[in-house]
Amino acid sequence: MADVISTDVVVVGSGVVGSLLARKLALAGREVLMLEAGPNIERDEIVSNFRRSPRKGDFMSPYPNSEFAPFPDYQPQDNGYLEQTGPKPYKPEYIRVVGGTSWHWAAQAWRLVPNDFRIKSAYGVGRDWPISYDDLEPYYHEAEILWGVSGPEEMAKYSPRSKPFPMPGVVKSYLEERVTERLAPKYEVLTNTTGRNSLPYDGRPQCCGNNNCMPICPIDAQYHGGLAAKAAEAAGASW
Ligand code: SF4
Repeated sequence: MADVISTDVVVVGSGVVGSLLARKLALAGREVLMLEAGPNIERDEIVSNFRRSPRKGDFMSPYPNSEFAPFPDYQPQDNGYLEQTGPKPYKPEYIRVVGGTSWHWAAQAWRLVPNDFRIKSAYGVGRDWPISYDDLEPYYHEAEILWGVSGPEEMAKYSPRSKPFPMPGVVKSYLEERVTERLAPKYEVLTNTTGRNSLPYDGRPQCCGNNNCMPICPIDAQYHGGLAAKAAEAAGASW
């Protein structure tokens, strides 16, 4: 006889969105079951795979492409997972593991600006959203606290904030300083808003800036879905 599983909520897919949702529901007292086709991976295993990989420029090479949860792979040759039928070749990459594709995502954590929600009213194109920036603002902040987002306060001129960033912006690189210098006063150059720690945060270390974010941050200074999946489990979600 088949096993019968009873639960309040089933979350299909343990990428960053599914995992954060599972965590929130579990914390709200719901019984949550998460389903994920891909294997559970650990950071040290992926770092080690990357060190041994002969294809260092291929961000996908350290991630296990399992028989039961395959994903598109183009090197050393296309595995044919996606059928390309259009006139323009397009080769999307995604990872099917616990935590999903944000194991490598370069950590860009920008908010939209208020006019993005009202492009019809403001610019006469497209459609306005049914919600405004202000409606979404508290949820942006909630996500930024969970991820650990670093950003410069001057960003609030463009994307207004009810509360400060969890961490100050990451220190500008030499290149960024030179570009800022050359473009001023005509252009304002803002430091990136990023899901990388500019200070030790949430038990994870400060980014040391050696730029290995893709394929993997070796020290977990960059937020990713694997952390979200662990947080969901810690909150009581089961697999
Ligand atoms: S420590 Fe290196 S790999 Fe990790 S977030 Fe910073 S620059 Fe990226």
